[in-house]
Amino acid sequence: MTPLERMLSWHSNWSLNDGYVKCKACGAMQAESAKENKFPHTETCSVVRLNQSPWQLLDEVRMAFESTENTKS
Ligand SMILES: [Zn+2]
Repeated sequence: MTPLERMLSWHSNWSLNDGYVKCKACGAMQAESAKENKFPHTETCSVVRLNQSPWQLLDEVRMAFESTENTKS
């Protein structure tokens, strides 16, 4: 996956606003300061089974972009 594809994939499940990540499937939100906690999905949320932290995924997107920058120079 390219960094851009990773980012688009992230945005298909999550949105980021004012330091909060929101799950697009169930509408649950989590502040960045609570990123070490389990994401508060509703029990019926379709994303919860992936058991992924949106903050962790976002870090991976950021690192993917950074490694692209590094290989350019
Ligand atoms: Zn959810």
